[in-house]
Amino acid sequence: MDKKGLYDTILNLENQAKDLADQLAGIKEEVSEMTQENHTLRMENQYLRDRLDSELSQKSPDSQVPDQVPPADPNNPSGLTKSRLNLENIYEDGFHVCNLFFGKRREGDSPCAFCLEVIYGDRDQKQD
Ligand SMILES: [Zn+2]
Repeated sequence: MDKKGLYDTILNLENQAKDLADQLAGIKEEVSEMTQENHTLRMENQYLRDRLDSELSQKSPDSQVPDQVPPADPNNPSGLTKSRLNLENIYEDGFHVCNLFFGKRREGDSPCAFCLEVIYGDRDQKQD
């Protein structure tokens, strides 16, 4: 191999190395995004599991508490049922409780009419 050929080969390898470095950087970025998304989903999943567990334990069939809606509770002036209060808590913690987006984060805690309907809807039909 003459000097020219050797030089071309080196240039070629150098370009391939750059391409590989670019590809690696791209893959690294993708992995980083996926890791973040995975982390967020794990957190949301755990959060929703905890919510579900606490809700289920409140509805335990072993419980001696009669299965009735309690009368007006001074700690509960909104008059929401327990399950609606749970939904309200989840909603206020920044997650959707509506059928459309259930379990997803509310972007920037922006209000969601569907969620509000789920939590507060049907209580009385009058609109103001
Ligand atoms: Zn919603």
